[in-house]
Amino acid sequence: MPELPEVETIRRRLHPDLVGRTVRDLRVLDRTVSRQDEAELRGMLVGRAVVGTARRGKWLIIDLGDVLMVVHLRMTGRLIWLPNEEERGRRPRFTVGLDDGRTLHFFDVRRFGGLWALPTAAAGEFFAGLGAEPLEDGFTVAHLRELLAGRRAPLKSFLTDQRRLAGVGNIYADEALFRARLHPLRPGGSVGPREAGRLHAAVIQTLRLGIEHEGSSIESFVDPAGSRGHFQEILNVYQRTGEPCRVCGAPIRRIVVGGRSTHFCPRCQPRRGMKLRHVPDEPPASADRRISAGSPRRWPAIAPAATAEHVRGGQEASD
Ligand SMILES: [Zn+2]
Repeated sequence: MPELPEVETIRRRLHPDLVGRTVRDLRVLDRTVSRQDEAELRGMLVGRAVVGTARRGKWLIIDLGDVLMVVHLRMTGRLIWLPNEEERGRRPRFTVGLDDGRTLHFFDVRRFGGLWALPTAAAGEFFAGLGAEPLEDGFTVAHLRELLAGRRAPLKSFLTDQRRLAGVGNIYADEALFRARLHPLRPGGSVGPREAGRLHAAVIQTLRLGIEHEGSSIESFVDPAGSRGHFQEILNVYQRTGEPCRVCGAPIRRIVVGGRSTHFCPRCQPRRGMKLRHVPDEPPASADRRISAGSPRRWPAIAPAATAEHVRGGQEASD
């Protein structure tokens, strides 16, 4: 399922191809893709020029000046310029034709994705309820601590709750908790100041790494040119059940938290914070030998949050 890094990858790929282009045509081939009908969507979008792109959480925003076109990929949504062989037999849910003759296709096997057109002035209201944007400057350790304070919900549920933090889903939550060396079932409110600092850095680093690797292509994700991402090649815990931890060699465990598959290292991510002192900062030399595949890696250095990238978008928002 596309998360922040996948949507951001799509945004970056689309940006140069969309900005300056005028929407010439919009076709809705599956009426359930939008609550608005084709005539309304066409009336709002056709004839307008794209002035920018943005992202809010997992929402992709195409800025047409006074109007925004908003797309959510949900489980399997794909925005593709040229359908590949797999897609050629399928019908896109909608298409957007541009003045340069190109057409953007929205394929979506599971059909949970959606399309909206809204006045730019209504963006604040549209995204009301969506939580902190983790790669923006406003997301600080202090803000994270405020969000965690008093929460009984497990960290895994906290991280994937779009009302608290926007854009983090199953993959990046598991990977961020591993980096932060925090057990996914730890109640949010039990996280201490130093742990919150680690979690803050780990969320940002994990998302940035995901973007650098152009997303995770575990199931269906590809960019608009049909290229796969590479983050799945460096996963530490997600879908590595039973495989040795890359740091300590212990088998990765899978549990279900809030109905979602959750992967963690029982040794590096102890249930109680107290045990943390026993986790070495560097893997023991013997751990390397137990790692079967891939090059052994050490704990990634957790640096303080660097400058958040500039991503235009609505102020607040919901998934
Ligand atoms: Zn481990």
